[in-house]
Amino acid sequence: MLTYYFYNQNINAEGNHQVHAPDCSRSPEAEDTIALGMHANCEEAIRYAEAFTGKTNFDSCTCCCVILEKSGV
Ligand SMILES: [Zn+2]
Repeated sequence: MLTYYFYNQNINAEGNHQVHAPDCSRSPEAEDTIALGMHANCEEAIRYAEAFTGKTNFDSCTCCCVILEKSGV
């Protein structure tokens, strides 16, 4: 199932752009979001964001992006 992802154009305290899915309670103001389109998961959305922008400072939102980080995948 694909989900629409977007990221905050403003960096957070760690210097990263946080990637969010809709309905996130921590999602930024609409005018601060950049659309990433439909993706299967947050990791894919981040990979797309990196390719799209050429930046590498993207981070998954711990609130809406549930990733099993480095769980041997
Ligand atoms: Zn979020």
